[in-house]
Amino acid sequence: MMSLRLPSIDGLLRHPSCVLLLERHGRESLLASLRQLLDELRPGVLDGQLSAVEISPEVLAGRVGERLAQQQRSNVRRVFNLTGTVLHTNLGRALLPDEAIEAVQMAARYPLNLEFDLASGKRGDRDDLIEGLIRELTGAEAVTVVNNNAAAVLLTLNSLGARKEGIISRGELIEIGGAFRIPDIMARAGVRLHEVGTTNRTHAKDYEAAINPRSGLIMRVHASNYSIEGFTARVPTAELAELAHRHGLPLLEDLGSGSLLDLTRWGLPAEPTVRQALLDGADIVTFSGDKLLGGPQAGLIVGRKELIAKIKKNPLKRALRVDKLTLAALEAVLGLYRDPDRLAERLPSLRLLTRPQADIFAQASRLQPTLADVLGETWTVSAVHALGMIGSGSQPVARLPSAALCMRPQVSKRLRGRYLLNLEAQLRGLPIPVLGRIDDDALWLDLRQLDDEPAWLAQLPHLQVDR
Ligand SMILES: *Cc1c(COP(=O)(O)O)cnc(C)c1O
Repeated sequence: MMSLRLPSIDGLLRHPSCVLLLERHGRESLLASLRQLLDELRPGVLDGQLSAVEISPEVLAGRVGERLAQQQRSNVRRVFNLTGTVLHTNLGRALLPDEAIEAVQMAARYPLNLEFDLASGKRGDRDDLIEGLIRELTGAEAVTVVNNNAAAVLLTLNSLGARKEGIISRGELIEIGGAFRIPDIMARAGVRLHEVGTTNRTHAKDYEAAINPRSGLIMRVHASNYSIEGFTARVPTAELAELAHRHGLPLLEDLGSGSLLDLTRWGLPAEPTVRQALLDGADIVTFSGDKLLGGPQAGLIVGRKELIAKIKKNPLKRALRVDKLTLAALEAVLGLYRDPDRLAERLPSLRLLTRPQADIFAQASRLQPTLADVLGETWTVSAVHALGMIGSGSQPVARLPSAALCMRPQVSKRLRGRYLLNLEAQLRGLPIPVLGRIDDDALWLDLRQLDDEPAWLAQLPHLQVDR
């Protein structure tokens, strides 16, 4: 047998099939990749296990080209969120409207008046860029914005309650997911937790009895991701605010999602609005930018002027502030709220949340034959009614009537799990990964958020399913 030899690096670099790679990826990356591949192949060549074709310059260039392309692909990838959860925290929550995307591009491309008052020519404050709009939309006296609502809660607690007691109902000592737990955040903010009442029932007299000279604030947290039902009692915000003020304490309300408008006008479940919380007497209200508001990740802190001033003076504010891209997007999104009549057309999250079930079902019925064809005999594919969720802790119990493509493997019970996991992985491995959910021995793709049908259809032929 004739012994084979790997081509030399120099020879490969000069080979026509590498010239294009050199242009595209640069000498350094190409060299590193070629060396690595040759090192991997050397033992196989010595053992005589590789054929001449397998180590030809064309084949080697092809393999290196694939590796370089893989390396070049960004880690941040677009996906199809067909999970049924619209504001999915792990999938980036709200999608921005075009107006916000344009504003972000402008802010990324050019210098801007981030902290510069164009009227006076003096130094400005970045919060000023959105303060007017937020005041108009919520009725708040003053506003400050930080990186997310967790930061808003931390900063507010630390600014107004450090080394004092924070009074809060036991029914509101929640965990929001990740590591955000109200008792931990309070501790980190330097506020001593003074819990009152019980998990299901807390009364005004419980708060009243807890107030003492060390009290610094009363806090109320919107129990966003769970619900207490049955024998329950909570003190209305207006009553709690009156009680707090009688004792000279501020009332903080963490609304979580915090809607700017009454969502019931679009047939969605009622969420407390920021304006109403302030009208009821909350002194500070905190809420997220990328939940029901439908904007970029941000934490909004609104309320009484002197308290906001105190919060802005906290050195932590500097550590938690938002960047220019966020502010640009936020201003554009808030601008859309000035015209509520057209909001559901212009704000993607609201448009998706309000998409009629009949519309989604029609889409599922239309796509069913194509998917059934791709998956073959082994799978039954049906267009079905399904129930989705708002997500991000809004309305944990409420379900959004939706429609889905439901795929069931027609194999023995023993094999079913494997088939489902394999199809799920195949969908996840597509150029634009498709994410659904497995439930009840089936894989479900909730189509509420399937906007880009052509892109979705175009990649179906890539699926390699068990037939
Ligand atoms: C979601 C949520 C938070 C955290 O908000 P992020 O913007 O995700 O940091 C805090 N409090 C409540 C009640 C929430 O629902």
